Amino acid sequence: MDQYLHRVGGEWVGGSGSVPDVNPSDTREVVGEAAQADAALVAAATRAARAAADEWAHSGPQQRFEVLDAAGAQVLARRAELGRLLASEEGKPIAEATAEVARAGQILKYFAGEALRQTGDLLPSVRPGLSVEVTREPVGVVGLVTPWNFPIAIPAWKVAPALAFGNTVVLKPSELVPGCATELVRILVDAGLPDGVLNLVHGSGAEVGGALVSSPDVDAVSFTGSVATGRSIAAACVPDGRKVQLEMGGKNPLVVLDDADLDVAVSAAVNGAYFSTGQRCTASSRLVVTEGVHDAFVERLAERVRGLRVGHALAPDTVVGPVVDDRQLRKDLDYLAIAAQEGGEVVGGERVERDTPGWFLSPALVTGTTGDMRINREEVFGPVASVVRVADYDAALAEANATEFGLSAGVVTTSLRYAKHFARHARAGMVMVNAPTAGVDPHVPFGGSRASSYGPREQGAYAREFYTTVKTTYVDPG
Ligand code: NAD
Repeated sequence: MDQYLHRVGGEWVGGSGSVPDVNPSDTREVVGEAAQADAALVAAATRAARAAADEWAHSGPQQRFEVLDAAGAQVLARRAELGRLLASEEGKPIAEATAEVARAGQILKYFAGEALRQTGDLLPSVRPGLSVEVTREPVGVVGLVTPWNFPIAIPAWKVAPALAFGNTVVLKPSELVPGCATELVRILVDAGLPDGVLNLVHGSGAEVGGALVSSPDVDAVSFTGSVATGRSIAAACVPDGRKVQLEMGGKNPLVVLDDADLDVAVSAAVNGAYFSTGQRCTASSRLVVTEGVHDAFVERLAERVRGLRVGHALAPDTVVGPVVDDRQLRKDLDYLAIAAQEGGEVVGGERVERDTPGWFLSPALVTGTTGDMRINREEVFGPVASVVRVADYDAALAEANATEFGLSAGVVTTSLRYAKHFARHARAGMVMVNAPTAGVDPHVPFGGSRASSYGPREQGAYAREFYTTVKTTYVDPG
């Protein structure tokens, strides 16, 4: 069985006990054992990152390119094996899991290129004789805290820009998926990272995550996870002046208009709401449908939802894998019960028995809901979508925007006028036209507004806003 150790300075180290990494498709199977850190180990990791910071900040872009490019190639070469690990510890169907690993490899390669593409400005001063240089510098030591639902892609899209722009790192992955993060760190270390540049600590959010985000050695924290945790991290960082970036929840609307191509609408809803077991921050959890197409859309979608094959993540015919753990499964079932009490009609959403003991839940579609119901206001994070019937486009737009979240919003329409209007007026960081609300490119900005995101965008060229700080230098050559 694999041991998932901490990486501190140049060493792989154990900790005070270990926790099993359990397969949600078969809870008898332990994928690995993760060492558990404590506050003292976190302090050792942040000190190691601090000690390595100056040298890495002044390393050349070629060295950073070489490491990230080699690591990206290695992740891509091992995508089948790492995909199996991801599917086994998180429960994503094997095809989706392998695609996520490939995405992580591509992200590493993208940021290898970014290390070489850094730019600055040289401009005349308003004062005669002086010139001004505007350059970018690393922030210093960054603490990265990641969730369980993208076990390798999210660590990759934080670690890669952090390293590319010259920062040193302490990564704390979710305690539910320690395996993928450990493999990612191992690959980066083996690709030639100097000791102390990338550190890894496993353990609980409150103790290990809490110690990391409040460490005086940490200059900046990038977090992805729930709203409650994100806000507590901001509260820990802001008083100390620590830079903070938060990517949090969503309650993303997919609007289906009367003029929609129904095949496109149903496919976008199935993909957006149920792929990855609905456990995506960008999941299409609210389906806002106009009067004229409502009944036909619901009928066709319900039929597709009933046919989605739920099963073991490694079974090739599985479309919807298990829920990640029993806690999340109870949460999904509780929300379905609340939706039914509030007047919604639930199709699916039942515990399913398979050959292996796993957290299997059939996908659920809740019809006859209104915007004020809890199922339409709060993030469930499961294979659950609810339908809200509205009169027309204006009502659909208003309903789509009636949320505290603002991550992704989609519209299915054949009207250019509605598509363009929606793109301009949807209160979300990402808008999808005739496409699922989930599924994004790695080379363009990712993020949202209001309760969904705080701070600069992640990914693509915009990642440098968070991972660098600007210096303005005045030079009088005399
Ligand atoms: P979570 O907030 O429970 O945990 C996320 C991480 O924070 C974990 O590593 C956890 O150990 C750590 N943590 C928990 N308490 C902490 C504390 N007090 N201090 C420091 N760290 C702490 O979230 P989760 O259940 O792992 O992930 C699901 C959530 O993530 C959903 O709300 C989902 O929408 C969100 N998510 C958002 C995005 C995005 O980019 N917007 C992407 C994926 C997931």
